Amino acid sequence: MSLEFVVKSQKLNKRYGETAALKDVNITVKKGSIYGLVGNNGAGKTTFLKVLTGQTRADSGTFTLLGEDNEAGYRKVRRQTGAIIENPGFYPKLTAKQNLEYYRIQRGIPGKEIVDEMLRMVGLEHAAKKKFENLSLGMKQRLGLALALMGEPEFLILDEPINGLDPSGIIEIRNLLLKLNREKNVTILISSHILTELENIATDYGFLNKGELVEEVTAERLKEKCRTFLEVKVTDAAAYAALLETELLCSKYKVLPGNCIHILEHVDRVSDYSALAVKHDIGLLAFEMKEINLENYYMNLIGAENQTDDSQEWGVTL
Ligand code: ATP
Repeated sequence: MSLEFVVKSQKLNKRYGETAALKDVNITVKKGSIYGLVGNNGAGKTTFLKVLTGQTRADSGTFTLLGEDNEAGYRKVRRQTGAIIENPGFYPKLTAKQNLEYYRIQRGIPGKEIVDEMLRMVGLEHAAKKKFENLSLGMKQRLGLALALMGEPEFLILDEPINGLDPSGIIEIRNLLLKLNREKNVTILISSHILTELENIATDYGFLNKGELVEEVTAERLKEKCRTFLEVKVTDAAAYAALLETELLCSKYKVLPGNCIHILEHVDRVSDYSALAVKHDIGLLAFEMKEINLENYYMNLIGAENQTDDSQEWGVTL
């Protein structure tokens, strides 16, 4: 029977003293997907990933991992899982290559040549002889990825792997992950606190905030939600809003401070919206087509207390 889900958690809870790191978390990672786990610092991303890898245990709740739902089963399938969570424990005085070689032997992975192959895969072939302590942060990240990939896993768990990479490094790692996903059907669960970092690769998203999963959504659906809207500034927003409802039967709008209105439906009816103001002698000060970007959408989701100034306006229910 082919596996539909690589991970399915139900009501996972984990506390650290007073802190609820995970609260009733239900996450489903479909086989073949690239699942972006997004949340601010302290949202619970690492804790969730550590529960999967066995680095910590949940206080309650259940999960399946590659079809297994108990400790003995998890131990078995964790061999088919590659993970980088926090520092993988490289030796500072050993070179990049020696570190990989050490772990290859320790894990009983046959074939010495796999070490060079992995270094090449993550673009570290030129740094093979550099001591770990002398690698840049981005190089260290790549080495962690090489280690995670060494056992040819069918499931990869990556905690903030893009952290510390320069822009070209980000593109390279993205392309590598896409290649692994498409050509080798590797399912990838990847966390980040920056949603846009995952924008070009994730097929699914889970948004965590203060230990709670606030939304799980496919990339496709998220795109639909991040739609275009019309920003209208008038001399009397209250009067204009009332007219939108009575004369144009428009109900999806939001009145914001500064006599500003965001119209979320029929954005192509620009002439109707401007004619309405003219007809009722309301001054039209500005008219602009805008887009809700992913970052704003996310900030809106996790609530006002975490918002930056520019995203304050996103009180709309989408
Ligand atoms: P970041 O992006 O900063 O890595 P995160 O989303 O991965 O954050 P976690 O590391 O899972 O978040 O932490 C969730 C919460 O649990 C935080 O409040 C954190 O301080 C707390 N926490 C995590 N590990 C421990 C621990 N070993 N002991 C005590 N508290 C912990």
